[in-house]
Amino acid sequence: MSTSATKKLVKGSQCPKCNKGIMKLGIALGNTLVMGIPDFPGNTINSRGQTVHFGGPGVKLTCLKCDACGHSVVKVRGIK
Ligand SMILES: [Zn+2]
Repeated sequence: MSTSATKKLVKGSQCPKCNKGIMKLGIALGNTLVMGIPDFPGNTINSRGQTVHFGGPGVKLTCLKCDACGHSVVKVRGIK
């Protein structure tokens, strides 16, 4: 099994998941993780183990989406 993570996916590529569909350009909505109220008194919201939840404003991302199975790949390099 190939585990190459550097396989280049471009618009028009064959879907790496189902090998049937064609990857087409699309828009995906990304979640934003936000810190809530500290879990324990004395903690700051940046303490280890704090609860985070998806609550921020969504982020619009460009993605490649398979037209057969719906598998999508976010087309972003170096996610911060
Ligand atoms: Zn597919």
